Formats: sequence, structure tokens, C-alpha cells
Amino acid sequence: MRTIRDPPGRTTLDWQQLLVDAVHRPGIISSAYTAFWNYSLGNMIWAHLQCLARGIQPGPLHTFRGWQKVNRQVRRGEKALTLIMPVTMKRKRHDAVPGDALPHDKSDPSATFTVFLERPFWFTLSQTDGEPYKPLTIPTWDEHQALQRLNMTREPFRHVDGNCQGYAHGRTVAVSPLAYLPHRTLLHECAHVLLGHTAESTDLSDTDAATPRDLREVEAECVAMLCGCSLGLPGEDYSRGYIQHWYHADVIPDRSVQRIFKAADALLKAGLPPVPTAEADAPAV
Ligand SMILES: [Zn+2]
Repeated sequence: MRTIRDPPGRTTLDWQQLLVDAVHRPGIISSAYTAFWNYSLGNMIWAHLQCLARGIQPGPLHTFRGWQKVNRQVRRGEKALTLIMPVTMKRKRHDAVPGDALPHDKSDPSATFTVFLERPFWFTLSQTDGEPYKPLTIPTWDEHQALQRLNMTREPFRHVDGNCQGYAHGRTVAVSPLAYLPHRTLLHECAHVLLGHTAESTDLSDTDAATPRDLREVEAECVAMLCGCSLGLPGEDYSRGYIQHWYHADVIPDRSVQRIFKAADALLKAGLPPVPTAEADAPAV
């Protein structure tokens, strides 16, 4: 996936690989959430993988200055973790931008565009010394608040098919009282709405919709898995099996990967109270 436009000499973060790691390596998502729950999902998993690769204890993050503000010092020689940050840039005429987040309008040479760059500003608690630090408590995810903020409604289940676990239409979702994993089904149906599947077609089994059926199911279950594992809900293996059942291609397309992270992030954050992150005290880029 080429959403990151690299300045010379920088490495590219592979979002497809990030999703593959998250989905296929058991426990990655939940441990990433435990340490980095107040970051975007992509950054959460990316920070966790960096910690694993470098043998750093995952935990609260701040920038160098952010740690100083809480009377802690980054130890000499510690190397910063990178996070992905959106950067707005001015477009030059005929500047082709792979993975550009905005449509490329050649007629408007002054238009701005957003790129996502890796920036090395963050250190975990374990890379610092100083006064005792009390991490923020992970807040409880509130279903009612999430649905309300996302402008979605949950209705009583009305499907006659006993095998149906749940369904979504428009911005409405329903979960069978007999659902095998009701919380995960709710996340899956919410994902169909957030991913735009219910706007594409009134019937999610429609084979003529813009997004093919198998890809719709894979996208929705990846979102359910990212959110469900983050929240410590059971069913990680079930989700992995469901994704494998529906999808046989080698890689999930770039566009889907972007949509999955965006929808999962929206669903997760909508159920949490607003919280500060160290992203806010990063130097301007
Ligand atoms: Zn579905």
C-alpha cells in the first residue's frame, strides 16, 4: 500500500503487512491496545510491532518534550519510535502523488494534499527515567455512545432465518438473540455501515454492488476483529476463520486496507471518551 509518500532516504511503512500481522499473529491486537489504546489503530499496532522488534517494553508514549513536562527524561542513546502523522502539503503543478488522500486536481496547482509520513518523535515509558508516572486508565467502550456518535441505530432482530447472526441496512444494525458471538456480530454489522456497504446496496447479499460480496465480508470482519480483539472480546479465532473462508486472494487490496483501518478506528474511538494523546505534543512537521 502506497499511502506514504517517502522523502528520499525514508522507509515505507507497509500497511498491508501491518494488517496481515494484526490479523494473523494471535494476541497482537489486544496487547497493542493495552499499551497504546489512545492512538489510532494503525499507530497502535505499528508502535507495538516496533517495540517487539526492538525488545522495548510497550507502554505509555510521549515525545521528548512531553516526557520532560511530566518530569521524566529520555535516557541517553534511546532511539525514538516512529508514528504515522498526516502532513498537509501544497501540490505543485503535475505533481503525481501515489496514495494521495485527496483527488488529484491538475487544474488547481495551488491545491493542498495530505500525505502520511513516519515521524520519529516518540519514546515509551520504559525508555525514560524520573518521577513516578501513572498511566491513564483504559476507559470502557460504550456501545450506546458509539452508535449515537456514528449516527447509527440498533433495532430488534427481525430476520426469520435462524442461521442469521445479524444484519445491517442503511444506518441500522440488528443482532440475533441467538448469535454465537453477539458483541462481535454487532461490530461486524456496524462495520458494514461504516464501510459504506449498506449505502452501496440495500441487500448485503447483492452480487452486483460496487464492492464484491467476498470483499465486503472480509472488510467487515477485519474491522470486527480489530475492534473486538482491542476490547478483549472473545472470538479472535472465529474472525480469523471467517476471513479465510471468504477470502482466498493473497493480499487484501490497498483501498480495502485503508478503509478497514479507518472504519475500525472510527468504531473504536466513538465508544471512548475523548482522551489526550502524545500525538498532540509532536513537533510541527
Ligand atoms: Zn457481513
